[in-house]
Amino acid sequence: MAVTPDTPLLEFTGVGEQRFKKLEKLGLTKADDLLAHYPRDYEDRRKIYTIREAPPGQRICISAMAAEHPRRARIRKGLELVQVKVVDHTGALHLTFFNQGYVEQALRAGEEYIFFGAVEEQGRRRTMINPIFEHLGKQSVTGRIMPIYPLTAGLSNHLMASLVRQALPCVAALPETLPQPIRQGHNLAALEYALRNIHFPQDEHALEIARRRLTFEELFYLSVGLSFLRHRREAISLACAIPQRPQEEFLTLLPFSPTAAQLRVMDEIAADLSSGRPMNRLVQGDVGSGKTAVATYAGWLCAMAGYQCALMAPTEVLAEQHFRSLSALLAPAGVRVGLLTGSLTPSEKKKVRAQLAQGEIDFAVGTHALISQGVEFHRLALIVADEQHRFGVAQRSALAGKSETGGMPPPHVLVMSATPIPRTLALIIYGDLDISIINELPPGRTPVETYVVREDKRQRMYQFVRKQVSQGRQVYIICPAVEDTPENGPESAWGASSPADLKAVKTYTEHLQREVFPDLTLGLLYGKMKPKEKEAAMAAFVRGEIQVLVSTTVVEVGVDVPNASLIIIENADRFGLSQLHQLRGRVGRGKHQSYCVLITATRSAEAMTRLRTLASTTDGFRISEEDLKARGPGDFFGNRQHGLPQMKLADLSGDMALLQEAQQAANQLLTQDPALTSPDNRPVLQRVRNMFADTPDIFN
Ligand code: ADP
Ligand code: MG
Repeated sequence: MAVTPDTPLLEFTGVGEQRFKKLEKLGLTKADDLLAHYPRDYEDRRKIYTIREAPPGQRICISAMAAEHPRRARIRKGLELVQVKVVDHTGALHLTFFNQGYVEQALRAGEEYIFFGAVEEQGRRRTMINPIFEHLGKQSVTGRIMPIYPLTAGLSNHLMASLVRQALPCVAALPETLPQPIRQGHNLAALEYALRNIHFPQDEHALEIARRRLTFEELFYLSVGLSFLRHRREAISLACAIPQRPQEEFLTLLPFSPTAAQLRVMDEIAADLSSGRPMNRLVQGDVGSGKTAVATYAGWLCAMAGYQCALMAPTEVLAEQHFRSLSALLAPAGVRVGLLTGSLTPSEKKKVRAQLAQGEIDFAVGTHALISQGVEFHRLALIVADEQHRFGVAQRSALAGKSETGGMPPPHVLVMSATPIPRTLALIIYGDLDISIINELPPGRTPVETYVVREDKRQRMYQFVRKQVSQGRQVYIICPAVEDTPENGPESAWGASSPADLKAVKTYTEHLQREVFPDLTLGLLYGKMKPKEKEAAMAAFVRGEIQVLVSTTVVEVGVDVPNASLIIIENADRFGLSQLHQLRGRVGRGKHQSYCVLITATRSAEAMTRLRTLASTTDGFRISEEDLKARGPGDFFGNRQHGLPQMKLADLSGDMALLQEAQQAANQLLTQDPALTSPDNRPVLQRVRNMFADTPDIFN
């Protein structure tokens, strides 16, 4: 059979209707699909052992001669054995094959084979069960590095490898997909070499070269695709042009003067909004840098121009807080602020929806409920997503489609994130956004002092709580309970604890109230509380009526009580560093010296080191890089929330240097040929299309 890239797998040796269906399930129907089905791992079968030297328990190759004709025995229905003794100059090995009757004929006494399997020792007897074997000198699956493929039930790795081997001759017919100058400039192997060696590597070095080329390719297409996404948005000519206004008008509403960084970002936003093109901007700023004011400014501009703005917060607690503060702030300007969350009563919801549809609310604050189906806006011009790296590309797309129904152009989108992420990663996750950075904290803030404390200091810590409260300050105590409902947002701690810990937050509060602080006013807050209770607790804390708030991480994102000066985090080792940094950001927001106490009983030296890192720096970027190193990109890439296409080879946290290279190459190419219309670049366009098949609007 002369295989071409389009040869259907049904024509391959070893593939019948049934197996074809299984292959289809893996997305494999033609020869070239197989070639793009990369191994997930490799097994080094190069070293050939003697029988005596073979280390027991691991899969290895042994070269030996069949010392006898295989003996076949039927033990019972459905169980048949073939047994044979093989020898070399160091000893004998006893082979047993289960239900592989053909072995009786396949192995011949006196002939030499390579056997691949794990040696077991039974007393002095060495045995091997179900080895793979081949004639010495005619090997295809031994004596080399073998690929291990991602499988599905009913398809063995052996079969997959044999199919790929059948497909391999057609690599020469595959068009090279990376333009020659890029390959040359970045030292990348040709596609043919790369594909041959990613499947059947000659040696480690060849594998490395192959992997580099194919990983680069993946990251390169990703970068090109994201650039397209962004250019497409920019090319959409129409968006509401929001006229600029004198900034002082807004500044008089604020109780403080903005920092230079805030002013700069406000200018960037105003320029975007007035450009007549849709804004797609990410504002990154460490906790406490004052992102809310910046978002408020954007919403205010829209409202003053007669449009609507929707601000989405990740939790109800936060939405309510924004609602309260924005109402107060914007009332003098005549801006009507409304709240829409999942926990309103049906009739309240109905009312707010009607107001949104009729344009009686200018500035809507809410949770995801705001973009859920059935919510219509009168003249929506701006969507602000607060505090979330959890809004991925897909969600942003959904947002952008929001107002098209009402005959309005797509809204401007502003994403606010307090999770400082390494720059390269930001370029990927937010590759389709412009980025503004608020790199300055409001003046007069003294850095939060952070202490790592062990259980034996608990009493002293309670005294410290008392002292803070006696000075009029307020205190948070955080417990790592898990509450994770979409409505209440991300409340779970990494390293998850059992739901039983939910009780911990309640019983702990009771304990504290009864035994430790009978004279203080304690409050309790967790995600699953009734919304009204939650709101009441938070409001009481804001008003200063609650002195100590015991809470789960529901307060993690964005809650702002400047009078709080101490946060105590129980079981601190169970949280990720970035999350701890966010939690710590709940204090130090006012003029008082603030403290963060991390309590831990951990015995892990590594966990202690992580906590000490946090104690030693307040630089959010450094912390997130440490976090990334220690925990991998789970936080950033968990559940594919970023909405990016699936990568086959690239590890978006580990392949940073290569990622940067690929991004440069993509930018360079797109500068020369923005629409990839040159014939040389058409294959790139094709590959990017395939990769972003789930985000179809990218090419419209
Ligand atoms: P974050 O960036 O974490 O969302 P916020 O917007 O909640 O920060 O602001 C944190 C606190 O700092 C709030 O109490 C806010 O009123 C205050 N704040 C913001 N900007 C300034 C500023 N320029 N000067 C003084 N206080 C400010
Ligand atoms: Mg905030």
